[in-house]
Amino acid sequence: MRLGILLATCGLLAASSLLTACVEASTSSPTFAPLAADPFTAAREELVESGIIAWGVEDPAVLQAMRTVPRHRFVPPEYWDQAYKNHPLPIGFGQTISQPYIVALMTEALGLEIGDRVLEIGTGSGYQAAVLAELGMEVYSIEIVGPLAESAANVLEELGYTKLNLKHGDGYFGWEEAAPFDAIIATAAPDHVPQPLLRQLKLGGILVIPVGPVGGFQELWSIRRTAEDVYENKSLGGVTFVPLVREAGTD
Ligand code: SAH
Repeated sequence: MRLGILLATCGLLAASSLLTACVEASTSSPTFAPLAADPFTAAREELVESGIIAWGVEDPAVLQAMRTVPRHRFVPPEYWDQAYKNHPLPIGFGQTISQPYIVALMTEALGLEIGDRVLEIGTGSGYQAAVLAELGMEVYSIEIVGPLAESAANVLEELGYTKLNLKHGDGYFGWEEAAPFDAIIATAAPDHVPQPLLRQLKLGGILVIPVGPVGGFQELWSIRRTAEDVYENKSLGGVTFVPLVREAGTD
């Protein structure tokens, strides 16, 4: 596992041009070229090779999911040309879609097996949820910003990820009715580990969560529940995440 400081900052990037899908017409025998070929397949493969495998992520299933999920569909069209660069991008409401490497690192750290029940805190664009769905997980995801929860649900549906369980609300409290979970991933940073998330882990389950002050040093933790009241913590390095905010009136 890669340690050290993982800075997820947005840089100024050279814009690469958008490619367009092209379906060749055939004059002789009927061929059935895919109507909506994904013009970003090569860019996605390049990102997986140079920004994810080269940086130490090994799990073949995670790599395959990163090759498959069309990240550009989860960002506004004006950022499509940057969708396969290894950095976060704005998704509106002051929020960001995480850097692809961080998504892969966190997903790998969850130690998933097909069919696991996984809770995500911070649906955002829906991209991480799609990666989990692509891996064959039973996905539960909570988003506190209403319009983001709605647009993520729409994109996921359009892409055929129809079996996810999505909720608008404060993920600090987890999803009690659906607990316990094999794994929980938080994609926004609280300043302490929320107790409800720890309590909603199965024995042996893992919580991957960035913890730290807003705009300050945050550390990415992998926390495994090894017995009823015993948790083992492992640091995955320093990170920069948007804060986990709280609904007014909750504590
Ligand atoms: N996983 C997302 C990353 C989104 S950024 C993706 O793949 O795009 C983190 C998200 O957490 C933001 O959308 C933010 O609104 C949300 N968030 C912040 N505090 C939250 C809370 N208490 N409960 C649920 N979501 C929260």
